[in-house]
Amino acid sequence: MYTTPAFTLAKKNIGEDDREYCFFTKKFGKISMIAKGIRKPSAKLSGQLEPPRLINISFVSANNKKITGAIVKNSFSNIASDVQKEAIALYILSLINQFIIGETQDLKLWNLLKETMEFIDKAEDNNSVNFAKLYFITKFVQNAGFEPNLTECTSCGAVNVLGPKIVFDFDKNSIICRNCQDQLKTNNFMNLNLQTLKSLQLLFGKNLDYLIKNELDLPILNQKKALNQFFQTYLKTLKNIY
Ligand SMILES: [Zn+2]
Repeated sequence: MYTTPAFTLAKKNIGEDDREYCFFTKKFGKISMIAKGIRKPSAKLSGQLEPPRLINISFVSANNKKITGAIVKNSFSNIASDVQKEAIALYILSLINQFIIGETQDLKLWNLLKETMEFIDKAEDNNSVNFAKLYFITKFVQNAGFEPNLTECTSCGAVNVLGPKIVFDFDKNSIICRNCQDQLKTNNFMNLNLQTLKSLQLLFGKNLDYLIKNELDLPILNQKKALNQFFQTYLKTLKNIY
């Protein structure tokens, strides 16, 4: 018998009473499991497997992927009772479902996910919840090995490019200085203002504790719109490479 902490990423009905669940687990990474008879009225497991709960799931063996039990470790009741919190928590789980392939343990991602969910659960205002989303995406991208170059122009190597007009080239995954912008060979770019660039550097460069202790979430949140736009294109570009 195996047991591991897990978050439910997705579910799909199969047959008459069964359901297939996709989990992100602490011990095995992303795995799919069948829950037999879970759609029968008498089944008790169904509610426990609803996202975004943190659960302990049990199953017989790696080859026999049938869920035998689930215990809720953290129901994140504040997330469940707040529409905005829930939307962001589910978005985060959907990102993992979209981008993570294969059953490989990833403790760094596990800890990031758990830390972010706990942060969202305790968050006292919308700003903190929005901040958690930006924070998670940043560290998720970083953990996958796709950190953008935010310090020097990838074309000429110039380091002091923090002028007013900076372009981010998503295809090259780098900022481009003003002198090199005429030679841009892509439409897949975005103009960044200095504050957006600095916010990105902070998000990528610092951990959650630092950002909270130094109350840096507000300057970052002033750039929320631009940052969300940046990450939307960033993730779309990443999806094409993955
Ligand atoms: Zn340059």
